[in-house]
Amino acid sequence: MIERLDHFMARANAAYYAAHDPFTDFTTAPEISQVFGELLGLWAADTWRSLGGPNPVILAEAGPGRGTMMADALRAIAFAAPDFSAALRLHLIEQSPALRARQKALLPRATWHDRIDQLPPGPLLLLANEFLDALPIRQFIRHPSGWSERWVQDGSFVHRPAPARTEPGSPGDIIEIREPALTLADRLARRLHASGGAALFLDYGPEHSGPGDSFQALRDGRPADPLAASGEADLTAHVDFQAFAEAARMAGATIHGPVPQGVFLARLGLFQRTDRLARNRPIREAAALLEAARRLAEPDRMGRLFKALALCASSNPVPAGFDT
Ligand code: SAH
Repeated sequence: MIERLDHFMARANAAYYAAHDPFTDFTTAPEISQVFGELLGLWAADTWRSLGGPNPVILAEAGPGRGTMMADALRAIAFAAPDFSAALRLHLIEQSPALRARQKALLPRATWHDRIDQLPPGPLLLLANEFLDALPIRQFIRHPSGWSERWVQDGSFVHRPAPARTEPGSPGDIIEIREPALTLADRLARRLHASGGAALFLDYGPEHSGPGDSFQALRDGRPADPLAASGEADLTAHVDFQAFAEAARMAGATIHGPVPQGVFLARLGLFQRTDRLARNRPIREAAALLEAARRLAEPDRMGRLFKALALCASSNPVPAGFDT
């Protein structure tokens, strides 16, 4: 069988997420510290208030994994913003039946959808952590005479001419195109423009588009060959924030960020909240809480490669964490 890389990646990830608890292979921010989800919940509450507090309002998450982030968010919202808590209708976008079952255990009152464009109409607050990086990419390689595309056959790359690509490039350059993310940016921007709201994406990747091969697999916490053992490893690639933002801007959204995750979380109060939680805890627990916050925020750990980007309807004020 020969498959285009994006088709291979989509199939491999669908099989992987259907059959595994991915969190044995990799760890994400909500699994590192409860404060991550709490701050995102309060970000949603604050943004909701700045929209005039529409009731009802859709609070949605794309790719909720184990449901940890949304459970932490809802707890913080119930405590700090009971009016938002009463107004929100919870919707989750998840394709994996196994992960839907995990999510249902923590979030019994949610409604599930396969895709973001299946959400009901109305004002929307959307959160997504490490969702875009799992969406399939295409890869193109530059040769002296033009571009070719990477396809997958029997666990190896093969190349096919891609005469439609006319971008400039130097021989050896690899470019990555994530079509579902660009389509998502476009549809979401139109929706936010028409019915109001905001979407917050946290993910990893460079601030500016540029050539590079970032296609990767994690298995048991270690890098693995992304073409081997399809369905047994999590396949991701860097998010091209610039291309994503551009697609949303072209469709009428206002873009905020990307802001490095460490800066974003610190602005929302990561360390104040962590200190508050650590108070009156045994010294070992207090140290673990602080260490978790540092892991999320320090530039040489998750603080810089991970970034926050918000899409808003153009009438919205600047959301929390993006003001300078
Ligand atoms: N946000 C969670 C999980 C990240 S893993 C966390 O931070 O821990 C990626 C998540 O996106 C998983 O829940 C996976 O099943 C889901 N996912 C991946 N591709 C998807 C797609 N095309 N449509 C819907 N969900 C998808």
